[in-house]
Amino acid sequence: MKNAQCKKCLNKFYEKDIYTIQQFQYRKEPTYDWSLKFFKKMGIDEWDSFCDECIMSYSEKSNNAWKNTKI
Ligand SMILES: [Zn+2]
Repeated sequence: MKNAQCKKCLNKFYEKDIYTIQQFQYRKEPTYDWSLKFFKKMGIDEWDSFCDECIMSYSEKSNNAWKNTKI
């Protein structure tokens, strides 16, 4: 049953395919601490569920924002 819902696109998907921003703690850059603050500003916390596509898009967005803070 597809009983998980993505907070961003609102699509339903399988629970085993849930992604959260917690996976960003494995990125070298930006730091996880920075990522948490970045997503908090967007109203996203560590327990929000996202689908594969949306977490990728957030990954990219945060990467770009991180780069911009360093210019
Ligand atoms: Zn989604």
